[in-house]
Amino acid sequence: MIASVGAGFWKGSWTALSLVVLICASSQSAAAADCPGHPDALGTSRTLVVDPREHARIGTMQYAETLPLDDHEVVLTFDDGPLPKYSNQVLDILASQCVKATFFIIGRQANANPQGVRKLIAAGHTVGTHSQNHPLTFNKMSIEQARQEVDAGIASTVAALGDASKLAPFFRIPGLLRAAAVEDYLASRGIQAWSADFPADDWRHIPPSRVYDLAIQRLEAKGKGILLLHDIQPRTVAALPRILQELKARGYRIVHVVPATPERPATPTDPVQWLLHPPTETVASVRWPKIPNFVFAQAQTLPVPGLSNLDWRDPGLFDRLRRPRAALVAQTAWPGPLRVSENSRPALPVPASSVFRMPEGVRVTLLASRSPANRPDHAANAIGPISARARTVGAPQAAHSRHAAHQNPQAGHAGRGAPKHAVQAKPAVHVAKR
Ligand SMILES: [Zn+2]
Repeated sequence: MIASVGAGFWKGSWTALSLVVLICASSQSAAAADCPGHPDALGTSRTLVVDPREHARIGTMQYAETLPLDDHEVVLTFDDGPLPKYSNQVLDILASQCVKATFFIIGRQANANPQGVRKLIAAGHTVGTHSQNHPLTFNKMSIEQARQEVDAGIASTVAALGDASKLAPFFRIPGLLRAAAVEDYLASRGIQAWSADFPADDWRHIPPSRVYDLAIQRLEAKGKGILLLHDIQPRTVAALPRILQELKARGYRIVHVVPATPERPATPTDPVQWLLHPPTETVASVRWPKIPNFVFAQAQTLPVPGLSNLDWRDPGLFDRLRRPRAALVAQTAWPGPLRVSENSRPALPVPASSVFRMPEGVRVTLLASRSPANRPDHAANAIGPISARARTVGAPQAAHSRHAAHQNPQAGHAGRGAPKHAVQAKPAVHVAKR
């Protein structure tokens, strides 16, 4: 009977396992079917819908938060295009792998090559902007200049697209030269500031093999994240096919990011998912926001702590985060006045005043005395009226106390805070009461 149950269990497990394998195989074949002519394509595993108003700044190279990716998920981004010579090759490589990416357009490039911008949308990619002229002074220029650069870049890209709704409210600051005032302006327009989680240094004069190495090594170091590349560089074009093949070989999955719209709500996430590596119980650390350059000259208030400062192990944290600030303050538990109710009266009895009252003419014998005549077994007789009470009320305890006092003369009063007037008669009184 046991054997047949066991066999049935294993048979059921194998059936379930086969089903899982079948589902996995079918999803892979679905990916291949989505990529005609490329059965080994990397593919795009899922689309992530984000609301820029909920998470205004992303990318752990500079910010506390990044996209809510699962382990081994990668988002590809390309800056500075479109430049037909190389951007078209990048598009072909991505198409051959059925991979969707996000492009950050320079307005001037869009003016020169509007067709190139439309191609990106036609291929299903996401298009954001990267300023009008790509000045490497966003951290120094006036906010008015920064606004003009941001606005003109958006206007040029929208003009190329012919439809503002096709442009994602995503912006990457040229050179990642961030400034709080710029980020505030972007946030005020509902635009998400995109940094990255790791670059591959493809703008530097390094061989494509080095771009490949850096992309893979830095991705492996973080396990997931936003990869920053440039679609205007020949070394990127040369490195990209191998990067994508290696991503597939190592089990990475591509995530396509699109902005939320009234018709397309944001993918549900928890706040903790927007941290690259949430703190665990085994790592003791204090995490401050990773902002390399502090530009608060124009800020009216001190920066608030980032979400990464919070202790995610606090079970009530998320509830409090969702509550309005007033409710949060009201919840703060300060020590209140200590109230002891009648029912929770301390168990130990308070000594009655009669304990300290000595009858007239009583002869007190100190139990601590080493004289044979004053040994404990004689003490009770010597005490008189009190000794009678000791026999009836607390004889066993009295015996124990007598013994303790005899063993250690200091034990009777040292540290007990007995009233001074009782010290002389203390051993006998102590015996009687207990
Ligand atoms: Zn750039």
